[in-house]
Amino acid sequence: VTRGLEVLKNVPCETICGHRTPLLVNTGLETEIHRALEHGAEGIGLYRTEVSFLLHDRFPSEREQVDIYRRQLEAFKGRPVTMRTLDIGGDKALPYFPIEEENPFLGWRGIRVTLDHPEIFLAQVRAMMKASVGLNNMRILLPMISSVGELDESLLLIRRAHRELSDEGVECRMPPIGVMIEVPAAVYQVDALAKRVDFLSVGSNDLTQYLLAVDRNNARVSSVYNAYHPAVLQALAIVAKAANKAGKPVSICGEMAGDPAAAVLLIAMGYNVLSMSSSNLLRVKSVLRSMRLDQAQQLLAEVQQMETSQETEACLDRALQLMG
Ligand code: PEP
Ligand code: MG
Repeated sequence: VTRGLEVLKNVPCETICGHRTPLLVNTGLETEIHRALEHGAEGIGLYRTEVSFLLHDRFPSEREQVDIYRRQLEAFKGRPVTMRTLDIGGDKALPYFPIEEENPFLGWRGIRVTLDHPEIFLAQVRAMMKASVGLNNMRILLPMISSVGELDESLLLIRRAHRELSDEGVECRMPPIGVMIEVPAAVYQVDALAKRVDFLSVGSNDLTQYLLAVDRNNARVSSVYNAYHPAVLQALAIVAKAANKAGKPVSICGEMAGDPAAAVLLIAMGYNVLSMSSSNLLRVKSVLRSMRLDQAQQLLAEVQQMETSQETEACLDRALQLMG
């Protein structure tokens, strides 16, 4: 735990004026559970299920998945655990399920793969629901949704899995379902998506990649990849506004949420929850606790006048330094 910040572990993340923003963590490896608890996480905002699939040499069975998921849910008993359905493809290939394509980030990825293989999707969703029996802290998150049709198809399969389990005598509640906003098309369809789900979560890593047409892992163009690009900030504001209007909670689970300066802008935009790597949690909490919401909103208004990411970053640096 970052030295000097340990004292913040058990205090809430709230501004001086009392605006609360639960800070959740992103997990994948099981070792991250312990680290998350050590940093005072209020829940899991993104559990990347593909990480455990990567550690196997074949698809884990439904039974094996129940055990894996149960450990995450039990460790965070009483706190929300957001389980994302398999997001393979792109840069994440399973050795036992090779996908060879020229443009993997524009190819068979995330929900596209699992909707083409409903047996994989159903086994996973059934395992998540079974694992949550008696705990009821599980939420399902759908990756890479780029149309309403994909969402509707996913929702049908989730309801089917729930019905099957009830018929088998497994008494599990229907979990809250959320959609990731990480493809530009989803930003423009946010109203239609929001009304179909219980919550939204923005994947700023992919959203930045797709909005700026820049591979998030390519070092040669890494200077083009910038979440402070005015177009990215504008998209993020549109999503928060639409979610607030629809009365649906909205979080952000990309790397950006763990950057204190970005966190200030995000709460000002109306994001209700931030999910990040454990290592950033206390630093973000420390900054948010040192300011008022109206200061964050004023800073956002200033930033929204800027036309380049360089100006924006310089402005944020100045503002954060002034606040100490
Ligand atoms: C994202 O795209 O911002 C995200 C959180 O998902 P991943 O990094 O796993 O693609
Ligand atoms: Mg993503």
